[in-house]
Amino acid sequence: MTKPILYDQDNDTLQAVLKELGQPAFRLKQLEEGLYQHRYLDFDEFTTLPKSLLEALAERFTLFPIEDKNEIISRDKQTEKFLFKLQDDNLIETVLMHYEERHTACISTQVGCPMGCVFCATGQMGYTRNLTAGEILSQIIFCMRRLEADGKNLTNVVYMGMGEPFLNYEEVMSSIARLIDQKGLNFGARRITISTVGILPRIRQFTEAKSQVNLALSLHAPNDKLRSTLVPSNEFYPLKSLIEASKKYTDYTHRRVLIEYALIDGVNDTLALADELATLLHGMLCLVNLIALNPAQDGSLKGSPREKVEAFRDRLMKRGIQTTIRLKRGIEINAGCGQLATSQKGK
Ligand code: SAH
Ligand code: SF4
Repeated sequence: MTKPILYDQDNDTLQAVLKELGQPAFRLKQLEEGLYQHRYLDFDEFTTLPKSLLEALAERFTLFPIEDKNEIISRDKQTEKFLFKLQDDNLIETVLMHYEERHTACISTQVGCPMGCVFCATGQMGYTRNLTAGEILSQIIFCMRRLEADGKNLTNVVYMGMGEPFLNYEEVMSSIARLIDQKGLNFGARRITISTVGILPRIRQFTEAKSQVNLALSLHAPNDKLRSTLVPSNEFYPLKSLIEASKKYTDYTHRRVLIEYALIDGVNDTLALADELATLLHGMLCLVNLIALNPAQDGSLKGSPREKVEAFRDRLMKRGIQTTIRLKRGIEINAGCGQLATSQKGK
């Protein structure tokens, strides 16, 4: 039988449990220090707490709800990918990317995803369930511990792994609250990015929360006709409404929006489309992030070649749109969204 996850419990609940177990008030602080400052992965590590209390907690709760089942490191050692088993045996992925001065964790928010984007391995898997805030936080804590063992620190967290974060709004926001809380993981909001396919009501809700967390919008096409063939949800939330909502995010937060655009060979990578994209984004505070598509597993869609990616960037830049090219990372380790979990299913 699976137990409730300790990282899913709020302060009030923890306080009530400790009281029920006859513990003095200061135990809460000790417990929280163990969870968020030391980030212990095992009850045995909490040496400041009495053994009887640890046993009682272990009877009621799971401390760390994700089990590292498989790790793959890319040949250049720049990308590590972890496959985690959840308590109910579902699988999720977390990717840790190492840059010169940055270490970025790319975390999952759902098992699978219901949005069905045609180029996305997670989308093709279908949807199983939302992750809890504790399951989301555990991926971050795992990466923090991993880096700390090498004397390094996690610098960025991107909600860009498996799943659509804005379809799991409450748990995602609760994980972020704990991530940025000084008594939690004390991580800077500006170093966190949520990527969405464009769930309009949630973009608005997120905007009104006025957080300093970055917003990334996965666009992949500059007109509704093309976008709807790649991203089915475009039928419900068309481009114009998403661009308007993104501008409002900038008005409220003074932060630029990251526009993600995966270049698919012969599909969305012509210079005419770059021009159309420049027109669409005109006047918006944004940064376009281009990436050549990680090829779909059935081989039907391919990433654009380097020359086309660069030509697309150059055209956008010429039109005054700030653009960067995201390095393809860890292709040989299936680092594309959802690709490792797909390859491991049934193993
Ligand atoms: N559901 C959210 C976040 C997870 S996907 C979203 O769609 O934004 C994270 C990013 O990976 C998105 O920009 C998504 O479009 C992109 N992506 C998915 N499959 C990809 C692939 N095969 N190659 C390149 N990028 C991909
Ligand atoms: Fe879901 Fe994002 Fe993949 Fe689309 S790209 S299917 S929204 S995870």
